[in-house]
This record gives sequence, structure tokens and C-alpha cells, in this order.
Amino acid sequence: MQHDLRARLIEHYAELSALTARECSGACARPRSCCEERYCDIAVDYAKTRWQVELQPTWHKALPLMGDDGCTAAPHLRPICTAHTCEICTHGEKRGDGAWTARYYEIMTAIAEIEAVVFADAIVRGEP
Ligand code: SF4
Ligand code: SF4
Repeated sequence: MQHDLRARLIEHYAELSALTARECSGACARPRSCCEERYCDIAVDYAKTRWQVELQPTWHKALPLMGDDGCTAAPHLRPICTAHTCEICTHGEKRGDGAWTARYYEIMTAIAEIEAVVFADAIVRGEP
């Protein structure tokens, strides 16, 4: 069961990533400018504790997980980054696009429901 739920989680994060990445690649004058070393560090910790994955640093001097074609971590291993867009962060929605916003929150809800089961122990312990 855990295996199936984790597989679904990976799918949901991949879909979320496709949804949010479109916003950034299409609309951002400074794509990836919101990346910071501390978010990479969070992703490294998260991947290790929740998924037992050791993310390897890249050549990038400022951003440990940034590669030639963008972030090298899979979407489910860097949830904060995957879920982030400027519109959601600032306004809690994509203004003027109710369908996009509805889909965003649908995926986020599905993710939260699965994570509550899969990571129950860690959530109780208050881990990231
Ligand atoms: S979240 Fe905002 S700043 Fe970051 S890449 Fe997307 S649009 Fe640009
Ligand atoms: S998207 Fe990747 S490179 Fe950017 S801050 Fe997040 S983990 Fe680091």
C-alpha cells in the first residue's frame, strides 16, 4: 500500500510541476530567480528523510541542485519549489484563470491527503 501511495504521490508532484513550471517558463522575466541555496538544502534534507534519496550536488556554485537544464531534483523531492509560483505566493491564486487555480488546489489537496498517510509518523514528530 505504501508503495502504491508513494507512486501516486510522485505522479501528483509531476503533474503539479508541469502546471507550475509552465507559469515560470512562460511568464517570468527572470526565470529561476526565486531559487536560493536554502531551498536546495531543504530539498536535500527532505529527500533524505522522507524518500531515503541522497541528492547529489551539481557544479553550480550558488545553488547545489541546479544543473544545466534547471533543477536536478525530481518534483516530489523538492515540494516547496514544485508548488511555488509568484501568483500563488502573492495572491493565493492565478488571477484571471480560475481553471488553473482550481486544478492547482485539486492536486495540492490530493497530495496532502496521501502525505497524511504516507508520512504520518514524521508529521506527528513535526518534521519538515
Ligand atoms: S516563481 Fe516567480 S520568480 Fe520564480 S521562476 Fe516562477 S515566475 Fe519567476
Ligand atoms: S528548484 Fe531546485 S535548484 Fe531551485 S531552489 Fe529548489 S531545489 Fe534548489
